[in-house]
Amino acid sequence: MINTITTDNVRRFFAFVQSFVFLWLLQLPTIVFATPLFDVHLHYNQADVDVVSPAEIVSILKRNKVRYAVVTSRPPELVRQLYQQAPDMIVPMLGVYQTLEDKSRWYKDKDLPKRVEAALKKGSWKALGELHIFAAQRNQPVFRKIIQLAVDYQVPLIIHGDPAVIDTVYSIAPNHPVIWAHAGTFPYADLLADYLKRYPRLHVDLSVRDDRIAPGGKLSDDWYTLLLTFSDRFMIGVDTYSTGRWKRFELVTAKIRHWLSQLPPDIAQQIAFDNADKMLHRSANAR
Ligand SMILES: [Zn+2]
Repeated sequence: MINTITTDNVRRFFAFVQSFVFLWLLQLPTIVFATPLFDVHLHYNQADVDVVSPAEIVSILKRNKVRYAVVTSRPPELVRQLYQQAPDMIVPMLGVYQTLEDKSRWYKDKDLPKRVEAALKKGSWKALGELHIFAAQRNQPVFRKIIQLAVDYQVPLIIHGDPAVIDTVYSIAPNHPVIWAHAGTFPYADLLADYLKRYPRLHVDLSVRDDRIAPGGKLSDDWYTLLLTFSDRFMIGVDTYSTGRWKRFELVTAKIRHWLSQLPPDIAQQIAFDNADKMLHRSANAR
């Protein structure tokens, strides 16, 4: 009697485990994409430094399996503190803003190109940005000079701006690598497809667009097609535009990993890591 009960229990137990395995298999398409990330859009400004130390930032990145992180700061030299904490992980990007106000007026500052060139001469900057610029300011001489400096010093540009701005950049620098932050100001799949076709060195960072590309967590059909068609041109980023965003870092990377997991694994790998790694020569330099 006791033996029978035990056998029944064992059977029931295995049936229970089996049903779990079955459920887990059913959910395979939505298991989390867990491999390392290359984040191309992070800010670490003075306001953040006062609250979150460089050591804490590095531990946030490690905890979330961010292998490489492109980070810019305001004022620009500040990111060096973070770089010194983890030189094998932080990819320093030269910002051009000293203060928050500079974000909307930098292109009027005639001395800016001189300062940017002095910083680039010192070396060790791997990218230039993020530059906020819109169609109405796209022909400002300061902006044009900054584009030329990016070409001369061979640093990719990160642009937060309108489609017309991208046209301006490529009229000056037809072969320059550019990352279009947040998929641009009008992130429509068909518009992006046009731009990616037109400019072969244009790349797109998908930071802050998670809800648009995957409403309610499910990757939309037009984005799925776009990401597959131009799988070598997209990159991911958390964009820590505020200290609060650093505090929510886990949540944002979980969202990113969730939509990445709905893509074929090789495509997800390109977008999560390989495309940025290729443009910024990280793994190649580490060897
Ligand atoms: Zn940003």
